[in-house]
Formats: sequence, C-alpha cells, structure tokens
Amino acid sequence: MPGISVYNTLSMQKEPFQTISPNKVKMFVCGPTVQGLIHVGHARTYIFYDVLARYLSHNGYEVNFLMNITDIDERITQNARAEGARPEVLAERYAKAFLDDMTRLKILTVTSFERVSSYVSEMINQVSTLVSNGHAYVVEGDVYFDASTFPDFGKLSHQSRAELMIRPVEISPKKRSILDFALWRSLTLVEGKWRSPWGVGSPGWHIQDTAVSLTNLGPQYDIHGGAYELIYPHHESEIAQVESVTGLKPFVRYWIHTGLLTAKGSKMSKSEGNVFNVRDLLRDCGADELRYYLLSNHYRNNMEFDEKRLKKYKERYSLMRKGARTIEERRSARARRRDSSKTLVHFYEALNDDFDTPRALEILDKLTEDGIKQSDPNQIELYYESLKIASNILGVALFGRPS
Ligand SMILES: [Zn+2]
Repeated sequence: MPGISVYNTLSMQKEPFQTISPNKVKMFVCGPTVQGLIHVGHARTYIFYDVLARYLSHNGYEVNFLMNITDIDERITQNARAEGARPEVLAERYAKAFLDDMTRLKILTVTSFERVSSYVSEMINQVSTLVSNGHAYVVEGDVYFDASTFPDFGKLSHQSRAELMIRPVEISPKKRSILDFALWRSLTLVEGKWRSPWGVGSPGWHIQDTAVSLTNLGPQYDIHGGAYELIYPHHESEIAQVESVTGLKPFVRYWIHTGLLTAKGSKMSKSEGNVFNVRDLLRDCGADELRYYLLSNHYRNNMEFDEKRLKKYKERYSLMRKGARTIEERRSARARRRDSSKTLVHFYEALNDDFDTPRALEILDKLTEDGIKQSDPNQIELYYESLKIASNILGVALFGRPS
C-alpha cells in the first residue's frame, strides 16, 4: 500500500511523507492570539491538525505536536484597555478559555502549548544573532530583518520580490526596504515592555513563533501548519529568520495550510457580525457533531460555515451512531477478533491521499451501512472493530457517550 502523501505549500505538490527521524514527527501549528474567545474558524483548523496527528500516531509515529499561544499582541492591549483590565490578566483568561475549548472539541493530540511571553529571552537571542551575522539592522531602537540578505524570500508564497513589493504589510519610514520586517520594536502599543540590547521594546510577531519552535523542536522539523492567510508575511518571515539564524535548510519539510472559513459570505470578524464562537456553538451542538461537519470539507478548501448544513450533519451523525449501536448490540461472545486492515483499506487510502477527510467520512458511513447487513458473528465483530478504529482516528465517536 502506498504511504501517506501530503500537499506541501512550498512545492505546491503532493509529496510522499517522510520524516527527518524515522518514526518521529515534530510539528508546530500557529495557535491563537488570546484577545478573545476562539471561533469556529480556529476550530476547523485545529480539528484538522488533530486528525492529522491522530492518523500519524495510528501509523506508528511518535508525534511531538507543539502549539504556541500568542499572548503578546496589540489587540490584547486594546481589548484590555477597553474593559479596564491588565493585558496579562485578559490574555491569561482567554488562554485558559482556549485550552478549555480545545478539550471540549476533543483536540487531545497537542503535546505542549507554549505561551510566547515565556520566550522573550530566546527572541532577543535570535534577533541578536541576526544582527551580528548581518541579516538584521538596528534603527533607533527598532530592529528589522534585511530581506535583501535572504534570496529565498518569497519561496513559500511563490511571489517574486516585485510582486511582494506591490502589497507592503508593514509601513515604517525606518525600514531600508518595503520587504523588511520588524524583529523588535521600540514604539508599540503592546504593554509590557522588555529590556533588550536595543533598548526597551517588544518583539515582532514572527520572531515570537520561531523562538518557541526553535527552542522546543530544534532547527529543523517536519510539519508547520496554520491557516492559509498566515503564509505571507508570517510563515515566509519565519523561514527567513530561522534559516538565517541556523544556516540550515529547509527549516521545515512540509508546510500545510488550511483554507479559509467564511460565514455569511465573508471572513469572520466582529465588524461583520458573523463570528461564531466555539463556546456558543457547543451549547447546542456536540463536539462529535461539529467535528463531523467541519471534516466533511477538505482542509485545503475554503468553507462557508452554514448552520443549516451543520443541522443536516447532526442528523447524519445521529443516523450513523444508530447504525453503530445496532452493530454493537449484535456482537457475540463467540466471535473471534478480526483483522480490520482489509475492511479499512479505502478509509486509509482516503487519509493517505492528503488527509481526505470528506472521503474518509463517506467510507465510515458506508461501513456502518454494510456492518448492519452482516449476520455472521465474525463479520459483525470485524465491522465493529473497523468502525471503532476509524472513528477514533477522526475523533468522531460512534460508540460510548458522544461529547
Ligand atoms: Zn504563528
């Protein structure tokens, strides 16, 4: 059976999945900025990486899954000011709420969550290295990465320098070039100002994540994930930073990105009034139901969140559980344990093909239907075992209590 293939944003192709160390996967996924509660767009992204990690574990990999919690950000300061709280208090409250939501969503594969604020000294070390090896320059207390020293800049987003110049993301008169980005800033809205060799200030966004990943996963690792909109400038800048600090390429083997989740036709935002918080959704929808619905769309596709469709998937899930219960009730003590690998061959094929969860769910559905038709105790046992394995990989429970 051919192994797992993964679509890599870097090559824009599906590639055979091969880890740096045998049987070990090191992966990093960009976590949320804890300025408020997480919404269903976050849920979709994190549920996908949870399934990916579950599937890799199922394939015998030892998965080290690291996720950062961004608790240094101007939006945190703004929201804290609006309610008269201290930024670190607000950030900690939403960090806890986030961890709680992750558990409720049955995202159980993350090995460690790291708050970026615990890594400021590593950030300063990385910036110092970049300044001393000529990849960064200091201007009046600010430090910028000099993009002209990194010829590969643009390789992840597949844009030329000229194309990148057309849409500048950080405007500052202190920068030598439009493409340069901040590693350290003296004047910022972020409260909590740290001492550095360049004066008091706060770290740029991209250096926060590479401080966490380099410290915990080392200079090279297997998978970096996140939402599609993080490709540029965030992930592009991460590559420039780390490869310039360590001199090793590639920093990451597989860049995997999830598509955008829209609601009412546009990106979720407070001003559009189309934000669906996970917490609110889970009031009248189970985690299994929400996972079933969100996984019914391929992770790379954009998806429109639609409450009517969610309701349909709740009904489908309930039917599938009913079928599974029938199979469970028909199990017999006389049956021998069976090898499920043949029954699940198409299920595995679907996941091996760039984690095609919509197809995997259809197969799960079909397996339930076929299972009900069995009368031989050994066959019933076979379907029961197969359904248990497949539903565990997707984190959509068919037996026991739903959550
Ligand atoms: Zn990030």
